[in-house]
Amino acid sequence: MTTKPALMEAATAAAVRYINGERDSRVAPSADVELPKQLDDNFLEEPWPAEAVLQLLADAGDVGATRTTGGRYFGFVTGGIEPIALASSTLAGAWDQNAGLPVMSSVAAKLDETAARWIVDLLELPSESVASFCAGATVANLTGIITGRDALLDRVGWDIRTRGFAGSPPITVVTGDEAHASALKALQLAGFGSDQILRVPTDDCGRVRADAWPETAGPTLVVLQAGNVNTGHSDPFEAILPNLDRDRTWVHIDGAFGLWAKVAPDRRQTVNGVEAAHSWATDGHKWLNAPYDCGVVICRDPDALGRAMTMSAAYVASAAERVPMNLGIQMSQAARAIPVWAILATLGRDGLGALVERTCRLAERMAERLAENGVEVLAPVVLNQVLARFGDDLTTDSVIDAVQRDGTCWMGGTVWRGRHAMRISVSDSSTTEHDIDVSADAVVRAWRAIAR
Ligand SMILES: *Cc1c(COP(=O)(O)O)cnc(C)c1O
Repeated sequence: MTTKPALMEAATAAAVRYINGERDSRVAPSADVELPKQLDDNFLEEPWPAEAVLQLLADAGDVGATRTTGGRYFGFVTGGIEPIALASSTLAGAWDQNAGLPVMSSVAAKLDETAARWIVDLLELPSESVASFCAGATVANLTGIITGRDALLDRVGWDIRTRGFAGSPPITVVTGDEAHASALKALQLAGFGSDQILRVPTDDCGRVRADAWPETAGPTLVVLQAGNVNTGHSDPFEAILPNLDRDRTWVHIDGAFGLWAKVAPDRRQTVNGVEAAHSWATDGHKWLNAPYDCGVVICRDPDALGRAMTMSAAYVASAAERVPMNLGIQMSQAARAIPVWAILATLGRDGLGALVERTCRLAERMAERLAENGVEVLAPVVLNQVLARFGDDLTTDSVIDAVQRDGTCWMGGTVWRGRHAMRISVSDSSTTEHDIDVSADAVVRAWRAIAR
């Protein structure tokens, strides 16, 4: 039998080997990758010793893992992992804390409370707000939207906890044409069907057009966006939020990555006025470079969040105590705050601002390199997102495919206002100027080969 310390040392050694090779390997495995054949052997009847299982896993990761942490992965808005985030989450893995209730772990409770407070401070949201960790921005969107729904109904005298949602006074939902699929899914899970949602037209950068804002009557749930997943542009909060009737409106912001623009002095103007909302969703596992699964919901009214998320009297702790399971959907939960706390303690305010600014500059550099070579950049780069197009849809798709096969870097495709585009997101904190230059070269090379 291998002991726990020996296994841990073997795992660390395998992880270090992986890290040492992550910049030299192709970014995504080739399409014909051969994962170890043993992965689906008859383990359930014939289990292996732990050290052999670990070795098999290490072999599988070497050939099958996507190098999202090596500086040249630009897909989706997938962040890498800060070194201290990896180290601290490895340590936290040994602790195996359940952060649901403070009584379950003193250290998890302290770090949860501290990291949550730091996030409200860093994002310059109203000081009375409470932040709480969850699995990702989709869950954070759901939590904020449910909280808003329940609070709006409370304001018109309908207690959803006892009377339910069916038969309740109607709520008008307003969101942009460019709302992220995650926000729409969250609305659907909260009981709002797509036919019930008013979609406001957006401009060339994907921002809601304030001049097209609809008149609504009665309780209104507004879902806006900080950081369009394609362009990085944010809705014009300053032009919309001050004009809403706050007595009958709840504004939720999907700011999965874009909200972090707040921490960079030269980027924050892109989200001006966002602090006037009632709830916000963001991610730790994207731009903050925390490990998965890490989202954050922030609510201006802690009581509203608590009313929506508290389960039964049996678990209500003393009012003075912060109880994570009553600030979100999950009961048992990983202590997600541990790596977040460690990242923030290591970078500080300025270091975090520098991370955001640096990745934005790298995105600009990518756009410049591509444009110099005749590539069409579809929207002005304001944050870390670049949209590139290579003549027509077919060529664009072919370039994306060729770049993915080449392996120097990885970018995905998207459809922007009816046109196919390559989406490049600079979210990994380890990306360098050299990474941008060799990646831009790889893209241009692929395009030239196809054009010939
Ligand atoms: C990524 C993203 C989401 C979903 O976040 P998950 O953490 O993947 O659940 C929602 N909204 C926007 C704008 C995003 O970029």
